[in-house]
Amino acid sequence: MMTSSFVLMTFAICELIIAVGPSELLRIGAIDVDGHFSFHPADLASVSSDFGMLKSPEKPLAVFQPSSTEDVARLVRTAYGSATAFPVSARGHGHSINGQAAVGRNGVVVEMNHRESGTPEPLVRPEEMYVDVWGGELWVDVLTKTLEHGLAPKSWTDYLYLSVGGTLSNAGISGQAFHHGPQISNVLELDVVTGKGEVMRCSEEENTRLFHGVLGGLGQFGIITRARISLEPAPQRVRWIRVLYSSFKVFTEDQEYLISMHGQLKFDYVEGFVIVDEGLVNNWRSSFFSPRNPVKISSVSSNGSVLYCLEITKNYHDSDSETVDQEIEVLMKKLNFIPTSVFTTDLQYVDFLDRVHKAELKLRSKNLWEVPHPWLNLFVPKSRISDFDKGVFKGILGNKTSGPILIYPMNKDKWDERSSAVTPDEEVFYLVALLRSALTDGEETQKLEYLKDQNRKILEFCEQAKINVKQYLPHHETQEEWVDHFGDKWDRFRSMKAEFDPRHILATGQRIFRNPS
Ligand code: FAD
Repeated sequence: MMTSSFVLMTFAICELIIAVGPSELLRIGAIDVDGHFSFHPADLASVSSDFGMLKSPEKPLAVFQPSSTEDVARLVRTAYGSATAFPVSARGHGHSINGQAAVGRNGVVVEMNHRESGTPEPLVRPEEMYVDVWGGELWVDVLTKTLEHGLAPKSWTDYLYLSVGGTLSNAGISGQAFHHGPQISNVLELDVVTGKGEVMRCSEEENTRLFHGVLGGLGQFGIITRARISLEPAPQRVRWIRVLYSSFKVFTEDQEYLISMHGQLKFDYVEGFVIVDEGLVNNWRSSFFSPRNPVKISSVSSNGSVLYCLEITKNYHDSDSETVDQEIEVLMKKLNFIPTSVFTTDLQYVDFLDRVHKAELKLRSKNLWEVPHPWLNLFVPKSRISDFDKGVFKGILGNKTSGPILIYPMNKDKWDERSSAVTPDEEVFYLVALLRSALTDGEETQKLEYLKDQNRKILEFCEQAKINVKQYLPHHETQEEWVDHFGDKWDRFRSMKAEFDPRHILATGQRIFRNPS
């Protein structure tokens, strides 16, 4: 056993010598770091695939498990200063879909979430209402730490086993975004290692251009090693309510009304999903309809048509349990859902935030988690959402979806235009998230090629119908598509790349710029 792993490691090191040349290898080996370089095949394999499982895994030359910002900076300085620059990609938790955290066979993956590498623990400052966290920290661990002080971040993703650096490189959205904005709107300060290996502290006051550019910047300008996240007093409990609609117009009117409320009397979370087949009522994102609240779609839907489920929550403290009922009653009176379709549950705040993990455990137990995920996330302008409904939910999708389809609106004024994140040019836009899983031995409609083809048809439909969607967690093949994606933001994005990562070392898996030079 020892011998075979020694042979494999020797083989990996030889590969490294051939690819980057003996001088670069000597330079990597000589970098004075506290963290750890691994060339072990098992470590290389563990970072070569992602949640999407859509690309053939390609092993990097080395995995680096840093223990500090300076460690990351030393590696990047070496890559930048080498005769032939080599790519370096931060990997959060590898929950990308299209290889965005991959680095290719000539590069080094920085495993930001390696537990044993001695990276700093989250540091909560209760008086200042913020927490300082390592860029590879998972949000679930940030929550655990802040709750010790009765505090919590304000804006979330639906799933907490994602890294801080990974979601801040995109946006980080969930049902709180209508009110608090995405996670990138709730960051006070960052430490960033640029593509030249410089460590830069940035915020609204200091290195402002880099601060906004890195937020939503798809890892192109620097590796986030520390983020200062704004906190609020953590609620103790959550009333979680779902109601159904058969009219898309009424459903979206109610969603838009709810996200226009910002005072004390409002729901704290607004999401929703589309139900095109009965199976979906009890899918992994909607388990609470059963067994305590069994629902027969036939009882609320005529002739198997599409249904829409509004999902809302009200946070509260134990001491407010009397008034919460009255507040919810007042809020619900303004909504026009199917009266017999109210499903309510009540749980601890932490259990609500961590809800998708429970679904993950169930799917893992059935071997249905580690399967290909041809996910497609789109921001759709409000003015065209009903055209999207007709063309996609009631058209292209047919009556089988192979996974949840989320839909919820957000307010553009909660997004900072100076960030690199791209959204449609309208005051309100919707996230439509087609979160499908492919099965090799399933029906035709569950196969990967079928689902990928549907995604292509959806994008084509939007183009032909001139619905100006923007991809969230974007994946584009050509630079022309990227230029189109960024629109007005492209010139700034390109000039920041030239300034902060001139040799194109960082996050090459996004495939926005040509390879390192
Ligand atoms: P990775 O996949 O490891 O990295 C993503 C990109 O960010 C790569 O380009 C990488 O190089 C770069 N990167 C990673 N760390 C850093 C860093 N420290 N500094 C600079 N760049 C870095 N997103 C939402 O917004 N809302 C949701 O509700 C949501 N739910 C999800 C549920 C599931 C089950 C999954 C699989 C994903 C979900 N996502 C959601 C998407 C998620 O936000 C992205 O996948 C995101 O990339 C975070 O994943 P990660 O930390 O694993 O990053």
